[in-house]
Amino acid sequence: LRGDERRREVGQRRVEELRDLINTHDYRYYVLDSPEITDAEYDALVRELRQLEAEFPELITPDSPTQRVGGRPTALFAPVEHRAPMRSLDNAFSAEELTAWAARVEKRLGAQPDYVCELKIDGLAVSILYEGGVLVRAATRGDGLVGEDITANVRTLRTVPMRLHGDKLPRVLEVRGEIYLPVKAFERLNQELTGRGERPFANPRNAAAGSIRQKDPAVTASRPLRLWCYSLGFVEGVGFSRHSESLDYLKRLGLPVNPATKTGHTLKQMQEFCAHWAEHRHDVDYEIDGAVVKVDALELQRELGETSKAPRWAIAFKFPPEERTTLVRSISVNT
Ligand code: NAD
Repeated sequence: LRGDERRREVGQRRVEELRDLINTHDYRYYVLDSPEITDAEYDALVRELRQLEAEFPELITPDSPTQRVGGRPTALFAPVEHRAPMRSLDNAFSAEELTAWAARVEKRLGAQPDYVCELKIDGLAVSILYEGGVLVRAATRGDGLVGEDITANVRTLRTVPMRLHGDKLPRVLEVRGEIYLPVKAFERLNQELTGRGERPFANPRNAAAGSIRQKDPAVTASRPLRLWCYSLGFVEGVGFSRHSESLDYLKRLGLPVNPATKTGHTLKQMQEFCAHWAEHRHDVDYEIDGAVVKVDALELQRELGETSKAPRWAIAFKFPPEERTTLVRSISVNT
C-alpha cells in the first residue's frame, strides 16, 4: 500500500506541474498568439496529463485542461455568450486510435453509422450570426461558452459574405468555421514584420489568430484572411437530418464550404481520406493539421452527445507534426 500511496503522491505532483505548464502555454497560444513550444510538444504534455488522470481519476478537477476548451476570452473585446457551446475536438494520433474511436461510437449506437470526413483547417474557430440574411455578429470560440466580439474585424474578410444568397433566407442563422491565413500570405507577412524589426508569427494559425484579434480593423483588413465553414451552429425554420445536408445548404447560401468533404458508409473510406490527405497536405495553399471524421446523421450525433470539452460524434485525426520546419523557417527569416 505504501508503494501505491507513494505512486499517487508522485502522480499528484506531476499532475499539478503539468496543469501549470499547460495553462501557461494555453495563455501564450490563445491569448498572446505567441506559443513558446511546438504543438507536438504541447500535445505530449496533454497526453501525459490524460494518462495520469486515467490512472488516478480522483485527481480530475473540472478546471483541468483535459476537461475544458482551451482559450479564455480577453478583456480586449466585448464578451459574446454562445447560444450553443463551441467545443474542441478529441484527437486520434494513429489509424488504430481512429479505429478505436469508431468502435466506441458503434458500440454506443449498436449500429454502424454513415460518416463524413473533412479537412481540419489549422486556423481559429469563429461563429458568425446572420439575421434576415445579413451578418450581424462574429465571435471567437473563447472558452467555448463565452467568446470575443470580433464583428468589425470579420467584416473586413472578403470571403465572408455580408449578405447571404437566395430569396428564402432564414430569420436567424449561426454558422461556424475556421478563419485561416494562406501559407504564402503568412510568409509574406512574416517578411514584412521582420523587415520592420517586429517579431514574426510562429505559424499561419497564430498569424491568423493575431490578425483577427486586432483592436484596429484596418490591420485585419490588410491581412488576406479567409474562411472555411464546417458546421451549422443554429438555424431557424429549416431542418436537416444529416450534417452533410447542412453543409450543402451553407454552400447554397453563398458561404465558403471546403470542397474536400467526403461522405461514406464505412470507416475504411474515412481511413482512406485521412491517408490521402496526410500524403497530400501541401496540395492546398493553407495549412491543415489533420482530418475530422464525423457521424453524419444529426439524430445519432444527439444520441452520442458530448463531454464538456468535445463531441463524442467527431474525432480529429492528426497528421504527424511538421511544425518544427515552420518555426525554423520563420526564425531564419529573422536572421
Ligand atoms: P484543435 O484545434 O486541435 O481542434 C478543434 C478545432 O478544430 C475546432 O474548435 C475547430 O476550430 C477546428 N476545426 C478545423 N477544421 C474543422 C472541421 N472541419 N470540423 C470541425 N472543427 C474543425 O483544438 P483546440 O482545442 O483549438 O487546440 C488544440 C490545438 O492547439 C492542439 O493542436 C495543440 O497542440 C494546440 N495548442 C498549442 C499550444 C502551444 O503552446 N504550442 C498551446 C495550446 C494549444
